[in-house]
Amino acid sequence: MFNLILFGPPGSGKGTQSENIIAAYGLQHLSTGNLLRSEIADQTTLGLKAKTLMDAGQLVPDEVVIGMVDNFMNAHPEAKGFLFDGFPRTTAQCVALDDLLKQKGNEINVVLALQVGEEELVKRLLGRGATSGRSDDTNETIIRARIKEYNDKTTAVATYYAQFEKVVNVQGEGSVESIYADLKKEIDARI
Ligand code: ADP
Repeated sequence: MFNLILFGPPGSGKGTQSENIIAAYGLQHLSTGNLLRSEIADQTTLGLKAKTLMDAGQLVPDEVVIGMVDNFMNAHPEAKGFLFDGFPRTTAQCVALDDLLKQKGNEINVVLALQVGEEELVKRLLGRGATSGRSDDTNETIIRARIKEYNDKTTAVATYYAQFEKVVNVQGEGSVESIYADLKKEIDARI
């Protein structure tokens, strides 16, 4: 199995580049943001609770997200590997993911960390909000709250994996094609 974490702040291009990577390498895409939005669309109890937090730019509790990831991985036993997008977002989620993978004799192979400056992130997210219908992308205060959550809690994910020398920084500004080419080079060197 080849397991990849695509890491970076909100608006860093994880969703866009995930599509390119899963198409090329046949990995199973696991986006916790997408899973949560589908719970909201289905109006499940989990979705209703998550929506309030997501609309405020805050993280959903670790145990909720970890349970969702565990279920998703168990539902895809045929996967050649997973591309984790938007997960893990806290150190507790990193530890839980390592445990889930270890139980099946697997591990995270690489963390590709997209580097994008804050003003570029805000510009991209407001641009996306104008067309995507994502309520958390339309308000600059909420966008800045998400970036703050990222700085306060999620940058620790890179620190966690850096201790195992698994983190590779990739420039996330430039054309979609040139960023993908850089990501591909790093994947090809390891897969
Ligand atoms: P973005 O990366 O653009 O912020 P996502 O679609 O990954 O968008 O996530 C949207 C929201 O869903 C986050 O702001 C957060 O509230 C919630 N969320 C997604 N993944 C996680 C996670 N792993 N842990 C906690 N909350 C999460």
